[in-house]
Amino acid sequence: MNDSVQDQADRAHGLMTLLAKGLVESSMQRTTSSLGDRSQYIGMSDIGRALECPRAAVGRKLFGIGDDLAHQHDLPSLLARQLRLQRGHWFEAGIAQVFRQQRLPVIEQLEIAMSHHGVLIRAHLDFVFASPVGQPTVRILELKSCEQIPSTLYSSYETQVYGQVGLLHALWDQPAFGIHGETERQGCSGLTFPQICHARFGIEMPADPSLVDIEAWVLCLSMSDAKAFGPYLPDDTMLSLCLNKAEELWLEFDASKVSGAGLDGLATAHGFHPLCSWCEFNADCPKFDGLDQQQWSDTLDRFKDLKVRQGELEVEISEIEDGLRTAYALSDVGGSWINAGQHRFRVSAQNGRRTLNKEQLRLELMAVLGEGKADEIIAKCESEGKPFDRLTVSRINKRS
Ligand code: SF4
Repeated sequence: MNDSVQDQADRAHGLMTLLAKGLVESSMQRTTSSLGDRSQYIGMSDIGRALECPRAAVGRKLFGIGDDLAHQHDLPSLLARQLRLQRGHWFEAGIAQVFRQQRLPVIEQLEIAMSHHGVLIRAHLDFVFASPVGQPTVRILELKSCEQIPSTLYSSYETQVYGQVGLLHALWDQPAFGIHGETERQGCSGLTFPQICHARFGIEMPADPSLVDIEAWVLCLSMSDAKAFGPYLPDDTMLSLCLNKAEELWLEFDASKVSGAGLDGLATAHGFHPLCSWCEFNADCPKFDGLDQQQWSDTLDRFKDLKVRQGELEVEISEIEDGLRTAYALSDVGGSWINAGQHRFRVSAQNGRRTLNKEQLRLELMAVLGEGKADEIIAKCESEGKPFDRLTVSRINKRS
C-alpha cells in the first residue's frame, strides 16, 4: 500500500472508530437513563429471553450487553452489533416524533414496577395510548426492529407484551406506575394508571380496569417494511407464567453471582436458534462444543466474506435489472432488441409459473371424498426429498 492509500485507510478506520465509540457511549447513557441498573430487577425482555435461552438471559444480567471499545479489536463486528442494537432506539425516536406531531395522548416509556415473591420486576412500555371517549380505551404499542419482518411473532416478543398488558391491568389502581424524566418533562413514580393519565393529559380514566378496553400490539419495523401483530389482551395465565419465569431467572442469576460459577450448568436454547449467531455468550456456549482446528480459520473468513459479497452482488444485479427494464419501457421499441456493444437486451412478457395450491386441493377433495380420504390421497402423493448435508457457519462472538 502506498502512503496515500495507507493514509486513506487510516482515516477511514479513524472515522469508524469514532462512530463505534459514539455508539457505545450513547447506548450506555440511554440504557442508564431509561432503564436504570438492570442488574437490580427483572425486565420483560429478560423474561422473553429466558424462555428462549436461560443461559443467555443470565449472561446478560451478569455481564450486561455493553461493548468495551478499549478491549474490542474486531471493529466491524462491534459496529454491526451496535447498529443492530441501536436501530430499535432510532425507530422508537422516529415513531415517537410521528405521534407527537399528531398530538396523540401517548405516554412514552411508561414504567410499571412490582415485587413478586421478593423479586423486583419492571416493565417498560414503549408507547401507551389512553382515551376516555366513549368506551375508555388503552392501547399498548411495543416496537421491535427486525432485519426482516417475521411471518409470525417470536414467542419471546409475545411473552414480553403479554407481561406488559397483564401488569397494566393487574396493577391499574395501585401506585406502581411511573415515567422516567425526559428533557422537556419531569419524571414521576408511585402513581396509579388513572393518576398518570390525569397528570399527563387531564383525562379521567375509570378506577376499575374491567371498564376499560385494553389491548397490546407489537409493531415490527424493518428498514423498508412494517407489520402489526395483535391484539394481546390481559390474561392471568400468561401473567403468572411471566412472573414465575422472572422469579426463576432471578434465582438462577443470584445463584450464579453468589457461587461465581458464571454461566456454567445453565440450560441453553434447543435446536437451531436465530439469536445464537448474535449472542454475546456464544464463544464458550456448550451448545457449540467442538474441536479446535485452527487451519480452517482463513477458509471460513474467506467463505463469510464471499457470502457477504454474494449478497451485495445480488442487490447490485437486481438494481441493474430494474434499470434495464425501465430503460426498455421508456425506449418504446415495440418488442425489438436493443443492441449495445457486445450485448443486446429486450423485455418480453412471459407466462406466470403454474403452482398447485395444496390447501385448496385438500379442501376440494374433502368436499367430494371427506376429510379422511382427502388426507389419505394427499399423503400418497407427497414425497420426501433425500436427506442432505447442510453446512452451517456461524460467528464466534468473543467477549473481551
Ligand atoms: S449461543 Fe445460543 S444457546 Fe448459547 S447462550 Fe447464546 S443464545 Fe443461548
